[in-house]
Amino acid sequence: MADSNYVYDVLVVGGGNAALCAAITARRAGASVLVLECATKDFRGGNSRHTRDIRYMHRAATDFVISAYDEEEFWRDLLGVTGGATNEHLARLTIRESETLGDWMPANGVRWQKPLRGTLHLTRSNLFMLGGGKAMMNAYYDTAAKLGVELHYETEVRELKISDGDFLSAEAACNGRIGTIAAKAIVVASGGFEANIPWLKEYWGEAAENFVIRGTPHNQGTMLKQLLQHGAKPVGDPRGCHAVALDARAPKFDGGIVTRLDSVPFGIVVNKKVKRFYDEGEDFWPKRYAIWGKLIAEQPEQIAYSIIDSKALPHFMPSVFPPIEAGSIAELARAFEIDPNALVSVVDEYNRSAKGGRFDPGTLDECRSEGLDPPKSHWARPIDTPPYYGYPLRPGITFTYLGVAVNEQARVVMQDDRPGKNIFAAGEVMAGNILGRGYLAGFGLTIGSVFGRIAGREAARHAGF
Ligand SMILES: Cc1cc2nc3c(=O)[nH]c(=O)nc-3n(C[C@H](O)[C@H](O)[C@H](O)COP(=O)(O)OP(=O)(O)OC[C@H]3O[C@@H](n4cnc5c(N)ncnc54)[C@H](O)[C@@H]3O)c2cc1C
Repeated sequence: MADSNYVYDVLVVGGGNAALCAAITARRAGASVLVLECATKDFRGGNSRHTRDIRYMHRAATDFVISAYDEEEFWRDLLGVTGGATNEHLARLTIRESETLGDWMPANGVRWQKPLRGTLHLTRSNLFMLGGGKAMMNAYYDTAAKLGVELHYETEVRELKISDGDFLSAEAACNGRIGTIAAKAIVVASGGFEANIPWLKEYWGEAAENFVIRGTPHNQGTMLKQLLQHGAKPVGDPRGCHAVALDARAPKFDGGIVTRLDSVPFGIVVNKKVKRFYDEGEDFWPKRYAIWGKLIAEQPEQIAYSIIDSKALPHFMPSVFPPIEAGSIAELARAFEIDPNALVSVVDEYNRSAKGGRFDPGTLDECRSEGLDPPKSHWARPIDTPPYYGYPLRPGITFTYLGVAVNEQARVVMQDDRPGKNIFAAGEVMAGNILGRGYLAGFGLTIGSVFGRIAGREAARHAGF
């Protein structure tokens, strides 16, 4: 347990990317810093340890990105995915400040690698971490420890004492003991509430019981709830979340990146009632993969099945679970315990509608269905070449969008629009200021890194450094 008799300069709650960026920055400024992380040492690093790449602004190609990605293009991409649900001032600040991350991260132990094949067309805009997020987090923890940041694991902050926007102290639990931690400033970097099924049920009803959580079970939103209860201004749609199509065989929590399924555009998807429910070939998968979680969440029992044939297999990155294989469509249906006759007739109808045209997985090709409802706009080849394959799909929640409002100093803004005195937030807990809707691959880390550094700098400044 951390020292209850000592007043730290900066208390950082959380142990992911945003937290460590804040802790390292505050410590380098000269502040005494305490990091409290819920997870055990082995599982430290929250959702950040599942990441692979980070989006950043740059003016020219480097050894690791193939050409420039400037502020305006970055901003346009963000506008495109959010449809305007973003705070332009904070978004542009994030974009501009991201330019220094290409050097800051290696200066703190992160190493880059060239992008691998099949990485969602990110070779221009995103940097890939060697060893992924796990190696990145290990590097940050190592740097923080060497700088003298005090780190405590298996310590859950449960309550914040806040009076009129002024943070006083935190109640933390460790090994059954509760302690009070005092600090001159606090940085809340404890992620979203995506692992809190009862909270998700408030917006999604019983369906949330069938959601799979892609990341850490520790992101329960306890700190988010505390800040909101103490008068922080909420931002973001409470029902909003980033959710993808996941292999239904994935573990309930922490399956990470390898359970995502990219087979959807190359076949058809049916629900438990053996009905297609959306255009599987509407657009390139990187632009659509994040809508499929929500689509599946709206189906009976929150389950769906991706059906493909052997022609499709080479066109997507395999996931960790092998597909279910069958010699016929009826056999595949029986393996999924759905109606075989219905699946045969759905596949027949689809095959009759797939009128040919040149198939090209690299473009929005002209291989589209005719007279099918819903249509399949691209990559509509008949499912006719055995063996046939299928994957069961569940909604996989990556993170939630509800958060607290912040200003450009990462200071939490209260409901009367005044900034809190010494309360800062970084990462997923405030990402809704910038990403009100949709998602840009690699942007979660950008927001957390930029606002983590700002929060660390400003918290240290508040403490007199
Ligand atoms: C499978 C997967 C892949 C992803 N891939 C990418 C990618 O490649 N690029 C990208 O930019 N984004 C990616 N994301 C999103 C990315 O993980 C997040 O945007 C980012 O990591 C959020 O960082 P954070 O520090 O805010 O939260 P987290 O990294 O989740 O850290 C939150 C921390 O707070 C701790 N905590 C929570 N509550 C408490 C409490 N009460 N007391 C103490 N500690 C607490 C948790 O244990 C955890 O350590 C991915 C997410 C997932 C799940």
